[in-house]
Amino acid sequence: MEQIRVEKTASRGIAVEKIYLYLEPDLTPDTASITEDQAQAEIDKFAASKAAVIAELNKLAEKNEIFAAHLEIADDFMLQDGVEGRIKNDKKNVQQAVSETIDEFAMIFASMDDEYMKERAADVRDIGKRLLAGVKGVKLPDLGGITEPVVVMARDMYPSDTVKINPSLVKGIITEEGGVTSHVSIIAKSLGIPTLVGVKGILSKVEDGEFICMDAGEGIIVVKPDEATEKEYLGKKAAYEQERARLEGLRNTPAVTKEGKRIYLCANVGNVQDIRNALPMNIDGVGLFRSEFLYMQNTHFPTEEEQFAVYKEAAELSSQELTIRTLDIGGDKELSYYEFEKEENPFLGWRAIRISLDMKDMFKEQLRAILRASAFGHVRIMFPMIISMDELLEAKSIVEECKKELDERGQAYDKDIEMGMMIETPASVLLADEFAKEADFFSIGTNDLTQYILVVDRGNKKIAKKYNYFSPAVLKAIGSVIEAGHKEGIKVGMCGEMAGDQKAVGTLLDLGLDEFSMSAGSIDYVREQILNRK
Ligand code: PEP
Ligand code: MG
Repeated sequence: MEQIRVEKTASRGIAVEKIYLYLEPDLTPDTASITEDQAQAEIDKFAASKAAVIAELNKLAEKNEIFAAHLEIADDFMLQDGVEGRIKNDKKNVQQAVSETIDEFAMIFASMDDEYMKERAADVRDIGKRLLAGVKGVKLPDLGGITEPVVVMARDMYPSDTVKINPSLVKGIITEEGGVTSHVSIIAKSLGIPTLVGVKGILSKVEDGEFICMDAGEGIIVVKPDEATEKEYLGKKAAYEQERARLEGLRNTPAVTKEGKRIYLCANVGNVQDIRNALPMNIDGVGLFRSEFLYMQNTHFPTEEEQFAVYKEAAELSSQELTIRTLDIGGDKELSYYEFEKEENPFLGWRAIRISLDMKDMFKEQLRAILRASAFGHVRIMFPMIISMDELLEAKSIVEECKKELDERGQAYDKDIEMGMMIETPASVLLADEFAKEADFFSIGTNDLTQYILVVDRGNKKIAKKYNYFSPAVLKAIGSVIEAGHKEGIKVGMCGEMAGDQKAVGTLLDLGLDEFSMSAGSIDYVREQILNRK
């Protein structure tokens, strides 16, 4: 038994479960060449792997039609010929033959003009991974295939992994990399999954399938617990659940400070289900709908109609306020169907509003969908990562173009839809007084703002101690933004993780923040802080 202390909590809660190790195996192909007599055995290995992959894809296709395209590719005769040819003619072993054929195939798809075919390159790579794992005789982990309660442990988790998490089975998450505002932490919090990140070296101390105890609120992990410890943690879990019930009793009390200021408590969400999960907390609306998850969970850029269906449902559910942030992709958020050029500094690169303004047709599909949804509730549009007045004005004028198009089509929308912006870049802080004249509201994104003001990567464990939104520099920025907003009579909210930090509530109220938007799991705690404030 060993107890490990972790400094910062990503998402609180207690778990006592079996470990599910989520580790990508090494899929580097063996490059040794083969003799002529070995060729048939290599071809047989490929046939066996292909049959297994097809059987697996058939099962997946029953549940989700996106795998139909995977199946066609896996069964393509050109793939078969490519692998066989390399084995027979070039004397390559099966691992290298698969790897090269997949590379060639993926490149053919990626260079096609048709957008749909281009996006199939990612499917080819996925199939390649499965085939290669098969011929190497290693197992690929699959978060979507978890069938019993577990604590998932990984080196790191990316947005493409987290979208597969089923919170009724994933009872805890522990990663070696990542910081408390990395995306895995944000998702875990919104799903209410106890999570600890940045736990260096933990993977070398555990085995798949053994039990582990964690108290994420206290930052304690116990590996190889004895029976007494397991019992102790089950007791802690029950006590935690009781405390949760007490807080739930406060939900019907509106968040009004002792001075009588009504504070708006909103949820950060990534999809419609997150809104449903947050509604019991008696929220005042959605302060941040991270629309990128709709793009990341897709096989193609979602169309206007596809997005409209989602936003309409969200607007109906969250009728008081639904703030939809336009696509914030790039940085660490990728799309499986779109090849981003490699960048030296992705967080300083082609991301968020920069992509939307460059890919105007795609941006307009989203804006028209948001506008149409505004006929069904109080919808607000929010632009991410703005650094200049030109960007804000250009984004707003594209919304106006979209309004005209809807007028021509005779489709309804809120003619006075509010258009606000995230304050998450130092430039937007410095120009806040100007922006306040053009934006209908501000929402401070402390996750990015902290990393850009302090020049500290939000996901880098090594400098996690330096990542501190209580730094005087960040607090001064927040204070000046609230002041600038209030001077022009606009509401200033916050949707970065700081808004859900109980320890920050007093300071943020003193600075005059109007709206706190956070992962659903933090709302009860923040409400209590506001109500108890002396
Ligand atoms: C932020 O930067 O604070 C924010 C809310 O946006 P995201 O975490 O999605 O980058
Ligand atoms: Mg951000």
